[in-house]
Amino acid sequence: MSHLLSFLEQYSHFQQLQQQADQYRVQLKRHRVQHRRQMKILRASYRQRIRDKNSVISSLEEAISQQQSPSPLSEGECSSDVGSPAGLHRLVESLYGLQGERSKLRGELRLLHSQLEQKERDRHTRIQAFQQQIDELKSCIEEREEELSRLRTAAGATDSEKRVLCLSAENESLKQSLSVTQGLLQQLSAIPSQSNTMLIKENENLRGRVQQLESSLQQRAEQLSQLERKSEHREWRRGEELRKREDRVRELELELNKERGKEPVVKYVTQTVEVESPATVKQLTKARQRNEVLSERLSGQNERCRQLEEQIRKSDEYSCNLQHKIAAYEREISHLREELLKEIGHLEEKKEEAVKAAASCSAEHFQNLQDQFFTLQKRLTALPPTLRSMKTDYASLRSQVRNFSEFYGAAISEAKKQISAAISEMSEANKDLLEKYRKEVALRRKLHEQLVELKGNIRVLCRVKPVLKEDQHEEGQSVVVTTDPNNESSLTVLSKGKGRSFELDKVFQPHATQEEVFQEIEPLVTSCIDGYHVCIFAYGQTGSGKTYTMEGSVENPGINQRALKHLFSEIEERKDMWSYTVTVSSVEIYNEVLRDLLSKDGEKLDIKINPDGTGQLHVPGLRVVEVRNFQHIKKILATARRNRITFGTQMNQHSSRSHALLCITVQGTDLASGSKTTGKMNLVDLAGSERVWKSGAEGERLKEAQNINRSLLALGDVIQALRGRHTHIPFRNSRLTYLLQDSLGKGSKTVMVVQVSALESNVGETLCSLKFAQRVCKVELGPAARKIESGGGQCD
Ligand code: ADP
Ligand code: MG
Repeated sequence: MSHLLSFLEQYSHFQQLQQQADQYRVQLKRHRVQHRRQMKILRASYRQRIRDKNSVISSLEEAISQQQSPSPLSEGECSSDVGSPAGLHRLVESLYGLQGERSKLRGELRLLHSQLEQKERDRHTRIQAFQQQIDELKSCIEEREEELSRLRTAAGATDSEKRVLCLSAENESLKQSLSVTQGLLQQLSAIPSQSNTMLIKENENLRGRVQQLESSLQQRAEQLSQLERKSEHREWRRGEELRKREDRVRELELELNKERGKEPVVKYVTQTVEVESPATVKQLTKARQRNEVLSERLSGQNERCRQLEEQIRKSDEYSCNLQHKIAAYEREISHLREELLKEIGHLEEKKEEAVKAAASCSAEHFQNLQDQFFTLQKRLTALPPTLRSMKTDYASLRSQVRNFSEFYGAAISEAKKQISAAISEMSEANKDLLEKYRKEVALRRKLHEQLVELKGNIRVLCRVKPVLKEDQHEEGQSVVVTTDPNNESSLTVLSKGKGRSFELDKVFQPHATQEEVFQEIEPLVTSCIDGYHVCIFAYGQTGSGKTYTMEGSVENPGINQRALKHLFSEIEERKDMWSYTVTVSSVEIYNEVLRDLLSKDGEKLDIKINPDGTGQLHVPGLRVVEVRNFQHIKKILATARRNRITFGTQMNQHSSRSHALLCITVQGTDLASGSKTTGKMNLVDLAGSERVWKSGAEGERLKEAQNINRSLLALGDVIQALRGRHTHIPFRNSRLTYLLQDSLGKGSKTVMVVQVSALESNVGETLCSLKFAQRVCKVELGPAARKIESGGGQCD
């Protein structure tokens, strides 16, 4: 379509050019008509002049013949009528006639002169107009030529590009139409064929129109050439006539010249008249003179005529030149027309090519589309069975889905029922389990209590300190304490040559580890979580390993850290059922004075009855820290250790002369019932139990030692009273027992770890410690059978 459009564009250009050519032709025709009219006028004037000349000539001839005709008569008459008034009269008449003719000729000459001038002016103006028209025509032709060249270049430069662009656009559109119509295959088959046939029809129509226009152009060109031939023929005929007339003029001029040559005859006649009459002669001379003057004038007139003829010839030449020019322009126009025709032919060829290319391209496209259509048709033909099978599949699937949804709904409802049943069962089972668990917990607690009961609520353990390298420098390095590997509860002390056996709840070998020691303490920690009050004491002389057992070293921690670690792990295990809050306080009792180990200022504290009405004791101003995790308790223990007042003694540089207490309170809440428990654990690192005189203390130190001994004695008394189930427990005898009143009372559990040195040098203190231990421990198994030894106490 696009190449057709470009062709139509070119064709419109061509039509414009044709219109311009027609306009030029019309102008040319108009100019020719004007020129012919002018020529006609000129010829008419020329003819008129010739006629005038002829009339003059004829009048002259007549006058001459009149003058000549009487002469033969006058020869006879002259001889008879010489000097007769009739002859003179005629002569005078002829002279008048000649004068009249002369004046007439003058008038004619003036008229001719003015006419000639007018003609000259007209010619000049016409020549100018012609020149102007020619210039205009030239400029027009130049413009057309330029336009034509521009059109040619424009057409040549962009035609291919335009075609390419148009074809690519057409391709794109065809592709688009292909993609669109792939879904509409039925319509696809109809559309390209229609478009193609339409294109071909359009092409044919355009071709027919072009051919019609060409034929009409041809006809018109032929008509024009015929008209030109006719006009040329007429021109030629007119030229011929003109030439004939000019020949005639020349002949007449020749005759006139001949007639002039006959002048002596008249002279002769005049002379003859002169003889006859002097008056006539006189008149004759006058007439001759006049004649001469007239002939001179005639010759002048002739000269003038020649000049006029010369001018006419020149004007003819000029007109001839103009005709030549016109012919040249006509030739140029015909040449241009030929070029135009050639250009049209060229454009036609191009158009043909473009049409062919478009046709081939469209045919190719059509072929491609047809191929695609066929393939798609094939696919389409292959599709219905697939579609049918898919339809059946779909129907079956749909029915399956429908069935499935029903089945699914039924299954879901069934599953829901089952799940709800299972859940109810599970909840029932859970309830049972929970009940069982609670029963189990209660049983465990009961059993634990029974176990602790069996072991005794107050248990006395003995730990024998191993012989260390630093102890070997001292005197009496021999080991006097021996343990029985077969009996965990007895040890023998060799003193003054005889062995003395001691029975305790548990005796740890010197090589017993911190973990083994803690294993015995662990049930008490569990009891504390369960809500019991627990006390753990480390008793023994300075340097026997109390602090080691309670605190331990960094790499091998003692009961304190291990108990707290176990506490937190137990809390973690119970977190689903219980929530616990752990608070810690630490005090030391030095010289019966209570100090806060977690407070830097070391302010003295007092023990008072709690004003809440429970009758329990409390220490106002004591710093109680809530422990979040095990790492936190490590820091608290380090602080307490730093703040502890220590004094070096003669026996052990690091021995403490004060009781150090770490009080842990565990408040538990049963998440299910909301019931609360409060357990307490007191971990007590007692001051050295060595005898005062042995340590060599005096004054303040002696007082210090006495206070320690007193408090330890009071502790022994309290424990003894508790084990003996006395009604009065002497708690108030010391600050230590008073402070621990809650934890040492009924229902509480106490462990006393008695530390002894195995060395001979410490045998006295070892014996004292063991005696103390045995005093609080000498019981029979079972509460009923338990008998506590009365009296005894601190060694003296
Ligand atoms: P106390 O607190 O009774 O005065 P310490 O606990 O300070 O005595 O012990 C004194 C020294 O003996 C410390 O250096 C300690 O490390 C060491 N010691 C005590 N018991 C043991 C033991 N079972 N194993 C190893 N070293 C011990
Ligand atoms: Mg110590």
